[in-house]
Amino acid sequence: MTHPVLAALGLNDTESGTYLGHGQWATTADAGVLEPVNPTDGEVLARVQASSQSDYDTIVERAQAAFAVWRTTPAPRRGEAIRLCADALRKHKDALGSLVALEMGKSKPEGDGEVQEMIDIGDFSVGLSRQLYGLTMHSERPGHRMYEQWHPLGIVGVISAFNFPVAVWAWNAFIAAICGDITIWKPSPKTPLSAIASMKICNEALRAGGFPDIFFLFNDAGTELASNFVDDKRIGLVSFTGSTKVGRIVGERVARRMGRSLLELGGNNAIIVDASADLKLAIPAIAFGAVGTAGQRCTTTRRLFVHESIHDDVLAKLVAAFKQVEKKIGDPTDPTNLMGPLNSRDGVQAYLDAIEKAKASGGTVATGGAAIERKGNFVLPTIITGLTNDAEVVQTETFAPILYVMKFKTLDEAIALQNDVPQGLSSSIFTANLKAAEAFLSAAGSDCGIANVNIGTSGAEIGGAFGGEKETGGGRESGSDAWRAYMRRQTNTINYSDALPLAQGIKFDL
Ligand code: NAD
Repeated sequence: MTHPVLAALGLNDTESGTYLGHGQWATTADAGVLEPVNPTDGEVLARVQASSQSDYDTIVERAQAAFAVWRTTPAPRRGEAIRLCADALRKHKDALGSLVALEMGKSKPEGDGEVQEMIDIGDFSVGLSRQLYGLTMHSERPGHRMYEQWHPLGIVGVISAFNFPVAVWAWNAFIAAICGDITIWKPSPKTPLSAIASMKICNEALRAGGFPDIFFLFNDAGTELASNFVDDKRIGLVSFTGSTKVGRIVGERVARRMGRSLLELGGNNAIIVDASADLKLAIPAIAFGAVGTAGQRCTTTRRLFVHESIHDDVLAKLVAAFKQVEKKIGDPTDPTNLMGPLNSRDGVQAYLDAIEKAKASGGTVATGGAAIERKGNFVLPTIITGLTNDAEVVQTETFAPILYVMKFKTLDEAIALQNDVPQGLSSSIFTANLKAAEAFLSAAGSDCGIANVNIGTSGAEIGGAFGGEKETGGGRESGSDAWRAYMRRQTNTINYSDALPLAQGIKFDL
């Protein structure tokens, strides 16, 4: 029987994983099958027919034809298309939020929150469609005008991770759409149903509104189609969200063909709590940052640096908070639960391996430290003390709710420790000291793409540019001027005089 959460969105036990455009879903049945598993009970949720090479070729050809039309559609009209998508998502927020919770394993409020992010980026894109501004410059030559304009780029390829199965696509696809681009999406094989549902909601809204196809979807049974996608010269920008390990391969391959890539990779985020911090703010922020989405956010708080004078007090309060969370671990579709399961058995194994490594390196488990004996991929939120920042396990992103708590004496030391990891995504300081806050945000402070004061590392808003430095990949998505990554800049000079002066005063007498 079809799971009721799937049925509520009109999905069946067997679904096509390929949207070919023209309102058609592929009927391919010989390219392999994806079987997304419910992380709460280990049962297969549905079968998704993977895409074939010929499906992929059809998609790219249709996307190219669509681009030829879409790039000359006025940007505010493109914004109208995204307004319809955002409205359709509003109608389906509850049902799609439940599917995200069911398939990925995040809590129902977080699933709904992810859909809300899609709606927010939709609204943002509608406004942005009237603000794709270029600069004008003063020419050094008389009778000349210089300006720059931003043109659509082409086809944007989105490869996404399992932990944000719908929002990451919307961040990319909605901005790309108002920029005049066409998006082809390859979602995570762990969450294809959330992707199929999102495509159905948005594409049906577009068709009902008389708009052409601007979003396509394929699913890969292995990694061959995805690898070819990365190498495909017809894909102007590859926007990749996932692990640093795979992102490094993707970045290198796209660079080899001189394509553009936007990389949103792993994080190893820290919070600094200084002696002046308001613990009423800090403790819930750290707890949510560490255990929200069961530690499977790229912005999850993984390291905590606490001033030595308050270390023991903070640790005791955090242990008490984690124990509170323990009482509310369970089925993520039940909105009263605070934490769901890890998404996969592999995730549970990585969690157990990290705890063993931490212990072998001299760490002590202050709370948690074990998988929960029940069906599904449930683990206890965990705090580990007694390790130093340079321990291998602390330097590594383990995608699970494990927090390493360490002490510091001076702010300079804390900032140096927080920066001393390969990744550079999100960071925070809790302080009531203005000098400490400004030092943390200064050029000599946090080296991350996101640096916060008195709020945690996770839970970014769509209005800002999102992304990180170093092995996090350097990409920026979502708000601010991140739209520029989806367009090509053209500099134009117009001579309206009767002379032909050369730049830099060069004489070329004929
Ligand atoms: P992953 O790297 O295993 O997979 C990501 C995507 O890459 C999937 O769609 C996968 O099928 C695809 N893929 C795998 N091999 C490929 C290949 N050879 N060529 C092209 N594509 C390939 O990551 P995951 O486990 O799904 O997600 C967790 C990771 O994502 C974590 O490291 C997390 O920090 C990161 N993440 C980062 C951000 C961010 O914005 N910085 C956001 C979410 C997740």
